[in-house]
Amino acid sequence: MSEHSSTWRDTVGILLLALLVAGCGDSGTGQGAVVLVVGPSSTLMVGIGSFTTLTVSTEAGNFVDPGEVDWSSAAPGVATVADRGLVRAQAGGIAHITARWSGSSATALIEVWIPVEVDPSADGTSFLGRKGYVEYLPGTLPFILSAPHGGALTPAEIPDRTFGVTLTDRNTERMAEQIRDAFIARTEAAPHVIISRLARIKLDPNREIVEAAQGSPFAENAWDEFHGFIETARAWVENELGSGLYVDLHGHGHEVNRLELGYLTSGTDLDVSNGVLDAGNFAATSSLKALVQSTGGSFSELLRGSTSLGALLTDEGVPAVPSPADPTPAGAPYFSGGFNIARYGSRDRGTVSGVQFELHFPGMRDTEGNRALFSQRFARVIEAFMTEHYGFFRPGG
Ligand SMILES: [Zn+2]
Repeated sequence: MSEHSSTWRDTVGILLLALLVAGCGDSGTGQGAVVLVVGPSSTLMVGIGSFTTLTVSTEAGNFVDPGEVDWSSAAPGVATVADRGLVRAQAGGIAHITARWSGSSATALIEVWIPVEVDPSADGTSFLGRKGYVEYLPGTLPFILSAPHGGALTPAEIPDRTFGVTLTDRNTERMAEQIRDAFIARTEAAPHVIISRLARIKLDPNREIVEAAQGSPFAENAWDEFHGFIETARAWVENELGSGLYVDLHGHGHEVNRLELGYLTSGTDLDVSNGVLDAGNFAATSSLKALVQSTGGSFSELLRGSTSLGALLTDEGVPAVPSPADPTPAGAPYFSGGFNIARYGSRDRGTVSGVQFELHFPGMRDTEGNRALFSQRFARVIEAFMTEHYGFFRPGG
């Protein structure tokens, strides 16, 4: 260690000398000749007691022994710093951590965020995640709605995503609120609603975290919040009501103006007959798996029979696929359900089944009036579907 250390000291000495020579004309004693860099320059720490370690180097990229750095925190009530740059979160807030070495100093910004504790039955309350990027509106109905792609916030602290889809599903953020209002107006009870307020260029909560957040700790935290809120709602529905339904709300720009219902059954699989659908493994690989089992009915009936969501929507004047009138997209572009439906539908676990709603734009998402009209239809359709297939809709009903 000492041998290595002396070699390193020689290197720094030469570097210092070089900087002093290069900096001729500067007055001074060499103070500040070495520019220090603390990494990372800003850090988000989540929860009291979480740890992180800061590193120090020179601006030229030379290693600085962290054991020789003098560390201090400007707000030890928020975050303390120990030898070798070990930072520990103490309370929510902001702390500047300074590293001093060889007459130079550098500062890193630490933010400690304490996760929101939510009460999933606190009907009428709104829970906001950090900086309001994600919002959870709890309810008491056995119905959960999420809107991952309608947000508009573009905070500078989150870099733009550089791969994957970044298009916003226009007006689905507002539609989710209007749907909630429609349920309350109709039933005097609210569904659970989870909304991402971030623009999709910053976060895509309908993807796994790597593609979703692309390394930004702020986007990763928002992703954790979005999914934590859905998980909380889902667990509450299962524990309190036994089973439920989850809808992930989207907007599509496909040529055919019809609502696309995604159950994880591909467009190609929808081309087969009802007999084939019901005889095969299709129900078990769909997001309605638990519902098919609990009703004892056929998969094809739930998917596109006379009591399916597609049928109920069609009866309300909303063209939908799959439905009795439109049993398969027949080769046209069609969204069969994504990450969220796979994660929160019943294919892999539990008694909450799921369906992805992909809404067309004209006459549907375009005006406040059309959104309100669809929201009322949506509330009626969900109530009818759940009354038919779950045997209840309102709690205790
Ligand atoms: Zn979408």
